[in-house]
Formats: sequence, structure tokens, C-alpha cells
Amino acid sequence: MTQLKSTPVRGPTAPFDEHLKQIMDGIIEPPHYNEIDPETALATITLGGQECFQHKRIKRPDDHHRKWAIYFLSQTQGGWFDGSGIVIWYDKTHKGRAARFEICIHAPVAGAGADPRRGWRPARCKLCGLDMTVDSGD
Ligand SMILES: [Zn+2]
Repeated sequence: MTQLKSTPVRGPTAPFDEHLKQIMDGIIEPPHYNEIDPETALATITLGGQECFQHKRIKRPDDHHRKWAIYFLSQTQGGWFDGSGIVIWYDKTHKGRAARFEICIHAPVAGAGADPRRGWRPARCKLCGLDMTVDSGD
């Protein structure tokens, strides 16, 4: 298991690391929390691209008891955690449950020099400033 630390290849800061730590310590509720079907969570996790953090906690809006949980955090191509992810835990009936959350509902704005035909899409979120650049070229 890795430490919670973005490993960016570009960009000046790791905007969500501290916020994600507080969520995964069960100190604050995951923002924009939506419970999802565990099979949907499994399919999303199976597609890959998230980093897994085990032995974490979740504080949910509908339950003031913190539960043990496993988080799967999404990352940008640049290596930052993008502030979203899937969290899974089991409830008191020992059934698996899952939810999606997002710290920011990103609104990417294309940057200068974008060349989508060559797969170069520089972008930043206009709400939080996250570098959302995608380079799918060779
Ligand atoms: Zn954003």
C-alpha cells in the first residue's frame, strides 16, 4: 500500500491530498456523496486507473458511526488525485456497500495551444484550478 501523496509529473500543487486525507480518516463526510450499486462499483474498479487505500474510515451523512472502508481514488493523467473516487464498506448486516464522491464537480476549460487532432488537450478546472490536461498523442 502506498502513502497518500499525489505523484504529479506536472503542476505546482497537490490540491486535494489534505482534503482526501480528512475524508479517509473519517473526520469529514465525502462531498457529493452518492451511494451506488456494489456491482457498478466493482465494474468501475475493475476498469482500473484508481489507486487503492485500505484500512481507512468513512463518515457517512446517514450514519454518525464511522465504518472501516477501502477507497479507490481517481487520478488525472498528470498524476494528481482529482478529488473523486469510490469507497466501499460493509454494513451491520455484513453486506457490501459502495458510494461515489467528488470534492469538486470539475468544469474543465481548454488551455492555449490545444490540438485535439494530435491528442493534446491542455485544460484546467475553472472551479478548483486542477490541471486536467490530457495528452493521448504518441
Ligand atoms: Zn474542479
